Amino acid sequence: MEDRVPPVFVFGIIADIQYADIEDGLNYLRTRKRFYRNSLQLLRNATRRWEEQRVRCVLQLGDIIDGFNKSSSASEQALHTVIGEFDKSLADVHHVWGNHEFYNFCRETLLASPLNSAAKAGSGSDLLANDIYAYEFSPAPGFRFVLLDAYDISMIGRDESSEKHKRSLKLLQEHNRNADLNQPPVFDGLEQRFVKFNGGFGQEQLLWLDEVLTLADQKQERVTVCSHLPVHPYATDPICLAWNYDAMQSVLRSHKSVVCFMAGHDHDGGYYMDESGVHHITLEGVIETRPDSNAFGTVYVYEDQMVLKGNGRISDMVLKYP
Ligand SMILES: [Zn+2]
Repeated sequence: MEDRVPPVFVFGIIADIQYADIEDGLNYLRTRKRFYRNSLQLLRNATRRWEEQRVRCVLQLGDIIDGFNKSSSASEQALHTVIGEFDKSLADVHHVWGNHEFYNFCRETLLASPLNSAAKAGSGSDLLANDIYAYEFSPAPGFRFVLLDAYDISMIGRDESSEKHKRSLKLLQEHNRNADLNQPPVFDGLEQRFVKFNGGFGQEQLLWLDEVLTLADQKQERVTVCSHLPVHPYATDPICLAWNYDAMQSVLRSHKSVVCFMAGHDHDGGYYMDESGVHHITLEGVIETRPDSNAFGTVYVYEDQMVLKGNGRISDMVLKYP
């Protein structure tokens, strides 16, 4: 990169830290080891590196602490610990919410917590008033970030008495016959996304995104959109895909300003460049990363492309603009 002009700005990315002060364990399918305590050390490795690299901001893609904290009444303490680690960095951290956020806290508590980073955006969005945690901001002239709420329509992100919760239960039961809705349906393929630990985007949020992207098109900006859940089937295992990924994709596809969609949730990670040239990046999760490795990235943003410099399990990537 030495032969290039300096980047316009630099930002950090990290996903699925899932910190808990408990012994190592296994994932749901018992196929991957989870390093609950060491995830804090891997976060520390990331924040130290980002300080050296002078990142302007960080996108934390969700599941910052593990659901296990809830059962030991350690949610507040665990959150305090990870936020304390992020606070050592000067960069603004923008937090996306994942399923583990909702295992630990209700939506109301999250909105009043340090995980509500909308105020750092300066502008915020009208959606926050309607309990939808989505906002956008411009980190530098000509560039924009959009953070989405993938649990807007879900069972875990919404109160049982709410319309959105009832609608989600109905949708899941139409596609999934299991008594435990965290078990995927027996069908192969994309139907597997209909599990309780996923969710989707409501109409109000899709319309808002469409408006944000229309303005970005007019200003000829480069937009990076992110959510906890991936929205392209080729960038993730279908079991981690957002319920209405197709509705989200049709919004993304209709705007030339969109250059990249970033997500977490699938700890194995994934990448696909779609037919419009939009890069779908699913970031490898910290929680299933060995203590001698790493899982964070630094993105150097230029006028013509972004260059992702990966660490540990995350690969380097050149992201040309569509
Ligand atoms: Zn998740």
